[in-house]
Amino acid sequence: MEPFVYNGLPTRVVFGSGTAANLKSEIERTPCRRAFVIGGPQQAATVEAIAASLGDRAAGSFTGAAMHTPTDVTQTALERFRACDADCTVAIGGGSATGLGKAIALRTDAMQFVLPTTYAGSEMTPILGETENGLKTTQRSDKILPEVTIYDVDLTLTLPVALSVTSGMNAIAHAVEALYAQDRNPITSVMAEQAIAALGHALPAIVAAPHDRKARADALYGAWLCGMCLGSVGMALHHKLCHVLGGSFDLPHAETHTVILPHALAYNAVAAPAADDVVARALGASTDGASALFALARSLGAPASLRSLGMPEAGIDRAADLAVKNPYWNPRPLVRGAIRDLIARAWAGEPPPTHPRSSQ
Ligand code: NAD
Repeated sequence: MEPFVYNGLPTRVVFGSGTAANLKSEIERTPCRRAFVIGGPQQAATVEAIAASLGDRAAGSFTGAAMHTPTDVTQTALERFRACDADCTVAIGGGSATGLGKAIALRTDAMQFVLPTTYAGSEMTPILGETENGLKTTQRSDKILPEVTIYDVDLTLTLPVALSVTSGMNAIAHAVEALYAQDRNPITSVMAEQAIAALGHALPAIVAAPHDRKARADALYGAWLCGMCLGSVGMALHHKLCHVLGGSFDLPHAETHTVILPHALAYNAVAAPAADDVVARALGASTDGASALFALARSLGAPASLRSLGMPEAGIDRAADLAVKNPYWNPRPLVRGAIRDLIARAWAGEPPPTHPRSSQ
């Protein structure tokens, strides 16, 4: 065993079916008494139902959460939070709702309760990305990590198949990058392999039967593990590239992750062949890991190309320039020409370049 450092995340997790009913007692385990319940506009009915279930523990609600946590939305929510004298947030939804809860907590130190309804994994991280005047900045703070997460499989049953697929692939990306992270460690590596295997089995089952509770439970379990990976170790090329592409060309978050992931792994597999092997093993594939991810996404009917997400071909060079502009740690050095090739393949929807598995 090589030396390592492992930081455990101080967070409480309640997992199961019907667990949203535990929210009131979870709040009452803590000193909190007045919950501010938040979500996105499409989750308004769920937000109101959850708020109603809290009775006199509900202080108010807000259903304006938006992608990439715009600071003007946070400001409006914060004023409501203060006006109703709340002392904690309850976020119901995907990464957008969780992001708003984190933004309020960062500014008030309020305790956070999260009920995730996608596989994004934000609830397990001390990371917050906020957008102001079109510019997204990301920060880490202990105040940002939610204290309690209640995973209720029932809340994910309505997640449309296409969103389930891209959200699940987005989650897998956290696990893949954890396998070759600079600060990787045996705990996150075990979680990453389990997570990829769980989602690799569950996503095809969800495509076949979206209300399959076992598949939904397995996917949510995998997503939890993926979130733990994202919150525990540093990410590299894949996440940085998706950040650049999303910000520069206004591309949808989970779909961009889905398209880029096989290409980013293929790029890094040269320097991190063991990680690629683990991905292939977790997916039960006889190919390399990057090809297995590409095949999985194709079998799930996920978008294959950046072109189909609306990125102009002329953007390939700009994206390559931006991707290598601010250097960061990556298992393989960032070479502009090779990064451009990666983006060009992803733009066109071509498969990643294949390479023999290191174990063969
Ligand atoms: P999202 O929260 O915007 O949700 C996507 C869509 O799915 C929305 O329209 C929402 O209404 C709908 N939806 C969610 N759950 C549903 C359900 N159960 N049934 C029906 N519809 C449902 O998207 P997301 O992909 O979950 O999160 C993306 C955001 O989260 C981005 O802003 C991203 O930057 C952020 N994020 C942050 C972290 C972090 O650690 N800070 C991690 C992952 C994602």
